[in-house]
Amino acid sequence: MAETTHADRRAQLTAERERVYRELLALGVDRSSYDDGFADSGQVTAERGEVDAIVGSLREALLEVDAALGKLEAGTYGRCETCGEDIVDARLEAMPAARSCMACASKRR
Ligand SMILES: [Zn+2]
Repeated sequence: MAETTHADRRAQLTAERERVYRELLALGVDRSSYDDGFADSGQVTAERGEVDAIVGSLREALLEVDAALGKLEAGTYGRCETCGEDIVDARLEAMPAARSCMACASKRR
């Protein structure tokens, strides 16, 4: 895969990371607390559960992006974690943090 493509992906992933991180900040979650989240609060309401769910999926997205950035560093980016084949560019374009190729992802569903 061409280096320019990887540079593009890195920029894309970094921008995505920024965006997710800013959303977490907007929900009152900063970096130091994003590991234990709202666990120390005794108040559990329906609204709270909704926020927790959003925070949970944002954290997950952040982990995915971090993992993808790590793979860029390691030189294994763009490879399916299940079958080891290259993930097609169109898929990475739409989902830069994708861990598996289209075939493996659809098999898992
Ligand atoms: Zn695969």
